[in-house]
Amino acid sequence: MWNEIAQEISRVTERSFEIQDRRSIGGGSINQAYRLTDGDRDFFLKLNQAAQYAMFEAEALGLKEMADSHTIRVPRPICWGIVEGSSYIVMEYLPLGNSSRDAWYQLGQQLAAMHRVVSDRGFGWHRDNTIGDTPQKNPWTADWVTFYGEHRLRYQLQLANRRGNFPRQAELLAALPSLLAGHEPLPSLVHGDLWSGNASVTVDGTPVILDPATYYGDREVDIAMTEVFGGFPQAFYEGYNAAYPLTAGYEKRKILYNLYHILNHFNLFGGGYGSQAQSMMERLLR
Ligand code: ADP
Repeated sequence: MWNEIAQEISRVTERSFEIQDRRSIGGGSINQAYRLTDGDRDFFLKLNQAAQYAMFEAEALGLKEMADSHTIRVPRPICWGIVEGSSYIVMEYLPLGNSSRDAWYQLGQQLAAMHRVVSDRGFGWHRDNTIGDTPQKNPWTADWVTFYGEHRLRYQLQLANRRGNFPRQAELLAALPSLLAGHEPLPSLVHGDLWSGNASVTVDGTPVILDPATYYGDREVDIAMTEVFGGFPQAFYEGYNAAYPLTAGYEKRKILYNLYHILNHFNLFGGGYGSQAQSMMERLLR
């Protein structure tokens, strides 16, 4: 398997690559991760079961979409495929270091620049992807209320109904047009899963974002997600707002947008996320 992956790296980069050392890297939630090196060039590899191939392909295409925006550093995808019953993705290895106030400020500014990249096809993407390992549907949709209601909230609620009880879901879905009334977001290129584990800084101080669930959506979904588990450093929000200020009503929409991730956490991990999702629905309907 290792040989085949090395050969594919050689082929795609048009330069011979033989693995001299592979080091396991922890910290990921879903996949096995490795740093591969030939002593000169380094690559980052993620492995999973063959059935996860579509997930890696979507990750590669998402990284490419963000890299092609030339707004923010992401690891360039190199190759992806299936070998000996495993699926894999290889991308640039980025040596990660310690963050600084400056780096967080720049991350905010660069994310704002990425959010200024908009789709002329509406909300969605050219393919489906995953959030965690839950499917995430991205059919092109002209209107944000429909997209968010159908392909984000309703989708997760349908999964959540298998193991939980969410009595106010119909009411919430019906209330979406009024919750989003007067808000007319552009279809911005978003990361889609921007919790703190997916934002970092290289050793030379460049901010990076990793492991996306890319689509075109309301840019506020990314900012809201940064706040799910306690928030990014203040400098990030200063940088973002200096470049592309958030608009009135964000604080309430934040709850609506994070409900998607909390429902997804309930679907992935169960436990207290169910009651958290319920109380978010109550707050939104109050
Ligand atoms: P998973 O898909 O399993 O959640 P991640 O993509 O989050 O895995 O990667 C796991 C860890 O590996 C990250 O927390 C990060 O520290 C590190 N990492 C991710 N991508 C790279 C990269 N391109 N170069 C170097 N380290 C990386």
